[in-house]
Amino acid sequence: MRVKVCGCSGGETPETALTGFVINGELALDAGSLCRGLTLEEQCALNDVLITHTHLDHIKDLAFLADNIIGIRKAPLNVWGSGFVISTLKNHLMNDKIWPDFSKIPTPDNPTIVYHTIEPEKQFTVAGYRVFPVSTTHPVPNTAYVISNNDGSFCFTGDTGVTDRIWDVLNATPDLLGLICEVSFPNMMTDLANISGHLTPKMLHEQIGRLKNRRYTVYLSHNKPNFRDLLRKEVAETGVENIHFLLKGEVLDLRR
Ligand SMILES: [Zn+2]
Ligand SMILES: [Zn+2]
Repeated sequence: MRVKVCGCSGGETPETALTGFVINGELALDAGSLCRGLTLEEQCALNDVLITHTHLDHIKDLAFLADNIIGIRKAPLNVWGSGFVISTLKNHLMNDKIWPDFSKIPTPDNPTIVYHTIEPEKQFTVAGYRVFPVSTTHPVPNTAYVISNNDGSFCFTGDTGVTDRIWDVLNATPDLLGLICEVSFPNMMTDLANISGHLTPKMLHEQIGRLKNRRYTVYLSHNKPNFRDLLRKEVAETGVENIHFLLKGEVLDLRR
């Protein structure tokens, strides 16, 4: 499984890009940086996008991706998310007010985007990948995705505060090749992390400490750019091993 990091930051600057990953060039996870991180050709090659939640840093490029691929792709782009995600995209983003409703153009019979609603804890299949969705703690409903094919499994938590269920699911996933988790705010901002549903290094340490017999790397994303150096220092101070802070543009080659 090859995972391209289009963006992995909790803020946008010339050096950092918002959340967006692509598995094997075809399956995207969140859409904060898919246009900035992919050539037009690569954007057109995407068939499916899984959305964790509706915060703007995870969805904004759906709008611009749809605009870039209209008239070029023959088949619609499939957008997958919880009922809350799909209804919010329809009613508040691509609603013919903020941006066109790409689920109706160029024609309702042959649209640019087709929406698919998923339910937590119900496995579904996307382009040959088995996907298991798990809810996590965040001010809006967030879905972590465990994605599996013959290579093994991979998990992206999306945004999450302190949570329980995902760690049990991952402990029951013996072929896990890697995990992208978030760490957003430094320890001095624990109160803000709690009310905004994010993790500090101390909270991250406690959370991933629940993973049993971990041999895979935990990749860290969603650092707020103004605290990136402090977050690295505080994560190092926890002593947690086999951790990697993601970099924009890098490609993870996950294999057994
Ligand atoms: Zn969020
Ligand atoms: Zn976010």
